[in-house]
Amino acid sequence: MRRYSAFAIAREAARHHQGWEKAWRSPAPKDRYDVIVIGAGGHGLATAYYLGKNHGIRNLAVIEKGWLGGGNTGRNTTIIRSNYLQDPSAAIFEKSRSLYETLSQDLNYNIMFSPRGVLMLAQTEHEVRGWQRTAQANRLQGVETQFIGPEKVKELVPIIRLEGPRYPVLGALWQARGGTARHDAVAWGYARACSDMGHDIIQQCEVTGIRSENGQVTGVETTKGSIGCGKLAIVVAGHSGVLAEMAGFRLPIESAPLQALVSEPIKPVIDVVVMANTVHGYLSQSDKGELVIGGGTDGYNGYTQRGSFQHVEETVRALIETFPIISRLRMLRQWGGIVDMTGDRSPIISTTPLGNCFVNCGWGTGGFKAIPGSGWAMADLVAKGTPGPLAAEFGLNRFREGRFIDESVAAGVAH
Ligand SMILES: Cc1cc2nc3c(=O)[nH]c(=O)nc-3n(C[C@H](O)[C@H](O)[C@H](O)COP(=O)(O)OP(=O)(O)OC[C@H]3O[C@@H](n4cnc5c(N)ncnc54)[C@H](O)[C@@H]3O)c2cc1C
Repeated sequence: MRRYSAFAIAREAARHHQGWEKAWRSPAPKDRYDVIVIGAGGHGLATAYYLGKNHGIRNLAVIEKGWLGGGNTGRNTTIIRSNYLQDPSAAIFEKSRSLYETLSQDLNYNIMFSPRGVLMLAQTEHEVRGWQRTAQANRLQGVETQFIGPEKVKELVPIIRLEGPRYPVLGALWQARGGTARHDAVAWGYARACSDMGHDIIQQCEVTGIRSENGQVTGVETTKGSIGCGKLAIVVAGHSGVLAEMAGFRLPIESAPLQALVSEPIKPVIDVVVMANTVHGYLSQSDKGELVIGGGTDGYNGYTQRGSFQHVEETVRALIETFPIISRLRMLRQWGGIVDMTGDRSPIISTTPLGNCFVNCGWGTGGFKAIPGSGWAMADLVAKGTPGPLAAEFGLNRFREGRFIDESVAAGVAH
């Protein structure tokens, strides 16, 4: 595949853009692959990419029931941060954040990584203590964050109202190297690089069954026929429970819709990401000028990918307390994605009761930021059969042994 470069853009401009190649191939499935990855979201594609790049695996297919990046990867609000409390979480999210910094160069695809800084507001004394504790933990973990006072918050976010009607802004946890990236571009960049390595990305192909013999996986049934495989990676977020059932085991996962919305585009008003967990809402501004606003998860499990008026109302009402200037904005679009949540709100990167079948799920409301790190760790697990240091604590056995990685405050509400 020809590299993208300033020279290529100039050449194609002169040719009326007639010479661009397709970014990825759309092959028919082969009879058998060494590795099949189910799910062409960011995590599945990143797993395939690092299996090729770090472990030299080439006979690999990514199988996707819809279009690549059409799940949560294309529906999220793109916040990237690594300021988690527990050591295993901080390690994998920081690995991921640092991979994001050079991902555009690595993939030769502009993922529009924007390290604009992320603020998590403290609006109660309890939150002040919580974020101060996280800042101390981050210092020990080598993650750069700091607890800042209200004056500094106002300096960073001039449109904020510090003395809210219910909750004043008492400070914030500030991660200057956090930010956002373009979600579609992350999926497209990995897909293009995977295709270039020779991986087959098979879209519009739903996995409907998993075959096994003597406790080992042997292949999958799909809407495009049976495909054999040596190893299988299940990376399907909200549908993890469905695929696990096909493979004959159960996962401690609940799936629920999570919603978001964007406003009409306006001139630049905010150049950082702000998360307000107490009132519950978060805000950033896209390059197009839309305010990207995150809401909550529905209060019941489900598989819908729609938005609802109730969430728009609740989220906007909450955010207006802290950002009164948004009160007269019109909302443009709303949508939902199906998030996969564990009890401790930490992910699962694990072997399974079925031999040579691996699972990566449970990223819940906060897995966009984890895509590169998760793919890296999952590729390690699939290639070697045992987890490397990044994934070691995220096995399914932690639920049996009571070794929870409790991030429920960090990931259960904000993203
Ligand atoms: C509204 C919203 C806001 C969010 N905001 C943030 C945020 O700001 N920051 C952050 O870090 N995270 C955020 N998240 C979470 C993040 O989007 C997810 O954790 C992440 O995208 C999960 O990626 P994935 O690749 O695991 O899943 P997905 O992108 O959902 O990919 C899974 C794929 O598997 C496919 N699949 C399912 N079943 C089958 C089958 N039987 N056969 C073949 N393919 C199948 C699906 O079609 C899908 O494409 C948000 C999520 C939502 C919904």
